[in-house]
Amino acid sequence: ADSLRDFTLGNLDPEQRAAVTAPAGPVCILAGAGTGKTRAITHRIAHRVVTGQVQPGHVLAVTFTARAAAQLRERLGGLAAHGVPARTFHAAALRQLRYFAPRLLRGREMPELVTSKARLVTLAATKAGFRTDRIVARDLAGEIEWAKSSLIEPDDYVVAVAKAERETPLDPASVVRVYTAYEQVKRTSGVMDFEDLLRAMIWGIEEHPDVAEQVRDQYRHFVVDEYQDVNPLQQRLLEAWLGRRSDLTVVGDVAQTIYSFTGASAGYLMDFARTYRNATVVRLVRDYRSTPEVVALANTVISQARGAEARLRLDLIGQRPSGPKPDMRVFIDEPAEATAVARRCAELIAAGTPASEIAVLFRANAQSEAYEEALSDTGVPYVVRGGERFFERAEVRQAMLALRSATKSTSELAMPDRVAEVLRGTGWEPDRPPAGGANRERWEAMAALYRLATELSQMTMLEFATELERRSAAQHIPTVDGVTLASLHSAKGLEWDAVFLVGLVEGTLPTAYAKTPQAVEEERRLLYVGITRARQWLWLSYGQARSPGGRARKSCRFLPGFGGGESPRIGLPREKKVVERRAVSAAAPCRICGATLLAGTDRKLGRCATCPSDIDETLMANLQEWRRQTAADQSLPAYVVFTDA
Ligand code: ATP
Ligand code: MG
Repeated sequence: ADSLRDFTLGNLDPEQRAAVTAPAGPVCILAGAGTGKTRAITHRIAHRVVTGQVQPGHVLAVTFTARAAAQLRERLGGLAAHGVPARTFHAAALRQLRYFAPRLLRGREMPELVTSKARLVTLAATKAGFRTDRIVARDLAGEIEWAKSSLIEPDDYVVAVAKAERETPLDPASVVRVYTAYEQVKRTSGVMDFEDLLRAMIWGIEEHPDVAEQVRDQYRHFVVDEYQDVNPLQQRLLEAWLGRRSDLTVVGDVAQTIYSFTGASAGYLMDFARTYRNATVVRLVRDYRSTPEVVALANTVISQARGAEARLRLDLIGQRPSGPKPDMRVFIDEPAEATAVARRCAELIAAGTPASEIAVLFRANAQSEAYEEALSDTGVPYVVRGGERFFERAEVRQAMLALRSATKSTSELAMPDRVAEVLRGTGWEPDRPPAGGANRERWEAMAALYRLATELSQMTMLEFATELERRSAAQHIPTVDGVTLASLHSAKGLEWDAVFLVGLVEGTLPTAYAKTPQAVEEERRLLYVGITRARQWLWLSYGQARSPGGRARKSCRFLPGFGGGESPRIGLPREKKVVERRAVSAAAPCRICGATLLAGTDRKLGRCATCPSDIDETLMANLQEWRRQTAADQSLPAYVVFTDA
């Protein structure tokens, strides 16, 4: 037992160790990418499990993507903390709702979960008397998602949009009509969306004391990774789970908030120490993931950030040995870029990097296809989007049904052979992988099912079909071997030896849809997330033209390395000189929590960002004085860094 305990405390720095061994109760880790936040929470859970403080089944660890949840489970398993549930908010809610459905729904059938709003929204828009195209339907779906995630009912939408200063291309009054119709359409067709799922469970707990008691008896210790991306709906579910208790560990990085457009708010993370006055607050700045070269680029990109994340940010300090400089490349067009990326992948693999340690990340899923084609032309295996929604794919569901019905007849061929036979029956040709695109994705999905069957070859057909259903409910996606092609959004929390960030042009990153300064800031954070995924090799590139002979586009404004760079800064006239960053010698650390205090001329001052203490008056006076002397123009986005050195 002692050695197990030491094991859970091994390979941690003093701050991480403080988070791991902090007593039961609220704990918050605020730190940048790659500083070991996820490591700290997995060790904290494992440490508490092996020292007998908590039982594995009483912990609930939640995160935001299926892949991140899978990674949490994997890391917990590696620390001898098996049996700790690690799920996305949705998977956790779905499981609970299924369990409590007989009690909550009193015999009524549980509505079917729809994973995409697009079709229903189009239907609702028609009912409400609007004609929509694909783009309008997508915008409407986005607005409805934002409203529901922000706990805003149709009637409150107009006021809420104005209050949030949310700029959308849609007329708010029309959104209300479609939103209202959307809710009706759902009800009459007996389906629910992801937000309804969370709402149902919140209602289940808040309105049913017996359900609340049972849920709270089951889950006693809560851990949330990537807490900067929690939205009000998820927060409310978390609070329902907690009841009056506060055994909650949250970790996050404000600079990695990439879902605020859909309702996420880093405010919960920033205010944690004010919400829970007895919270243990830990900050980490050592970056264990990336080479100093990658860390330097990440620091540069995010140091230009404006807004709350800048206030809370600390420069990352790279811990790993020096590595190659990030490779920044400009190509004549996108096909040339894709070909070069595929070649470089092949070189890395030939030199010994496993394909699964390489990722090509892009802003929009539509960018994937060019890379799929180039990789298959080069003979490099790849996995599209890492199977994020693996079990939601139509062909996977169809295959699962076919496998289930195959259990009714006897055969035995051996189980994996039977699985292959059933999959062939659905049109899968194992020896003929299609070159690229959607067909290739379908083929890869079937191949993954078959591979899983061979891994679980000791199971019977029935056991295998049941196992698939279990994994589907737990969003436990099959392991895949190949270069990962994924969106920047879905790459959050993950890491690879080699990362290719592609298509870094204006219009793609930042996306053309980012029309407000806040939306542009979110794009910058997305790039920061991308850069910080790389351990060793980082490649950044863009093709000047979209297709051969096309018009040349501008390089991404966040990356001065391409020769473009951000000038002028968004929203500021060109001639204004920007005060980048200044240290104040009269500064001191926060008296209560010791955090390095950050504040800026364009923000509310006077408060420590991590704990409830007010900044001391002398310090405030010094700051005011400094502002007077240096920043003649108070509107400049300058900020001050108080250092405790
Ligand atoms: P992100 O913000 O991207 O989610 P994170 O803060 O969660 O990052 P981790 O994924 O926990 O960071 O850690 C990044 C990498 O550094 C991992 O490979 C992890 O194993 C390693 N690492 C973390 N802490 C240490 C440490 N004290 N010593 C050695 N390696 C560490
Ligand atoms: Mg993490």
